[in-house]
Amino acid sequence: MNTISNIPDRKDLKRIVIVGGGFAGLQLAKKINHRYFQTVLIDKVNYYQFQPLLYQVATAGLEPSSISYPHRKAFQKRPNFHFRTCEALRVLPSENILETSIGSIHFDYLVIATGCDTNYFGDNSLKDSTFALKSISEALLIRNRILMTFEDALNADCEATLRKILTFVVVGGGATGIETAGALADMKKTILPKDYPEIDFTKMEIHLIDASPRLLANMSEHASENATKILKNRGVIIHSNTLVTSYENNLVKMNNNEELYSCNVLWVAGVKANSLPGLPDEAYQKGRLITDEFHRITGFENLFCLGDTALMAMPNYPQGHPMLAQPAIQMAKNLAKNLNRRVQGKPADHPFVYDDRGSLATIGRNAAVADLGKLRFSGRVAWWLWIWIHILSIVGIKNKVFVFLDWAWSYVTYDVSLRLLIKPICSRIYSSKAASDCGK
Ligand SMILES: Cc1cc2nc3c(=O)[nH]c(=O)nc-3n(C[C@H](O)[C@H](O)[C@H](O)COP(=O)(O)OP(=O)(O)OC[C@H]3O[C@@H](n4cnc5c(N)ncnc54)[C@H](O)[C@@H]3O)c2cc1C
Repeated sequence: MNTISNIPDRKDLKRIVIVGGGFAGLQLAKKINHRYFQTVLIDKVNYYQFQPLLYQVATAGLEPSSISYPHRKAFQKRPNFHFRTCEALRVLPSENILETSIGSIHFDYLVIATGCDTNYFGDNSLKDSTFALKSISEALLIRNRILMTFEDALNADCEATLRKILTFVVVGGGATGIETAGALADMKKTILPKDYPEIDFTKMEIHLIDASPRLLANMSEHASENATKILKNRGVIIHSNTLVTSYENNLVKMNNNEELYSCNVLWVAGVKANSLPGLPDEAYQKGRLITDEFHRITGFENLFCLGDTALMAMPNYPQGHPMLAQPAIQMAKNLAKNLNRRVQGKPADHPFVYDDRGSLATIGRNAAVADLGKLRFSGRVAWWLWIWIHILSIVGIKNKVFVFLDWAWSYVTYDVSLRLLIKPICSRIYSSKAASDCGK
């Protein structure tokens, strides 16, 4: 395999290759000391995506550009930094080489921060028949689908077809599921009847199906109860303790023998860590890479793992830390601190200790639930807190301002202005392989 072109071989610097520019990878690249390290960040996409607000893109509340940020822009002024848009394919640990879709690269340190992907729990047919929400591309696909639904509804030729078109099924009662169901309920109440006065929206149904006995199983009972109450008040039909057993020909079948016809099934029921071939089976547990408290992958001195992909079993977290943004960010900061010290010959022995700052989830306009330490509250105050925390967490000043303006506008007007059905088309005009003159 060729080596990745145009990355200088700097003998005076240690080369750290970071796979994945999400919460963990981005934070690490920012914190690593460029006087001692040459940083190579690789990602399948050339931008960072703020996943907690993907559902807002999917439900036409925010533009994709408001919750994403180009990696090249983030590191424009950074010395000894290189970014490549490519996919990591395999690691060869004994040779310190990473193989990617554009060539191989040698590393002194490799950090795997590849996050996770949608989990279909072994039923891969669901991958083709349902909508997932893990990336901007998937969020845009859902947005187009939602908007097209109502165009289709206008042309429905019978009552049964109309009901099937107007039935939305969200599978998964975690934060993403309740946020998506809540946003759909808000759309049904405030926006859609104005855009489609010909449609009878009492026929639109939003179902939320969850395998657990209660929604938001990772939050407090208080949060679950309040989220359930608010969603029910907003017309969402909740099926707890229920598993989807199949979805074929627009028919959702559940393990309690209930059935639902729907053209729009959103699958947000679970996630599984992204793995990278080349590491031994013993390095994995439940699909995540086992690390020690210094983020080293079991059995390796110079291979590290952060974020959703990492399983660091600690007394408080025997199953690893929650797959959330804060553990990913905090792990990255700790690893940067240790590596910056190690490269200077100082002790690099700062163990990771997770500082749990609590959890928030919103259910739509004026409604959210919060578990902050021993404090449990819900309603308008939790919602405002959710809004401010998210605005502060978004990368980029322009993005913060745009999100604030979009939300303020929607709040005042009960409207969102992003309901354009723009479908990408594939181009066969240019491909980098066809452009290459090498070897001709
Ligand atoms: C819809 C949704 C809502 C969420 N809401 C919240 C929330 O409200 N609060 C919260 O704390 N957390 C939330 N999370 C979870 C949070 O986003 C994750 O825990 C966090 O993103 C983990 O960070 P990470 O760096 O491990 O991975 P990610 O942020 O997922 O980044 C992984 C990166 O790796 C890249 N990648 C993957 N494989 C490869 C490869 N082979 N080669 C090259 N690049 C690769 C991906 O393109 C991606 O950019 C949500 C997640 C989703 C999907």
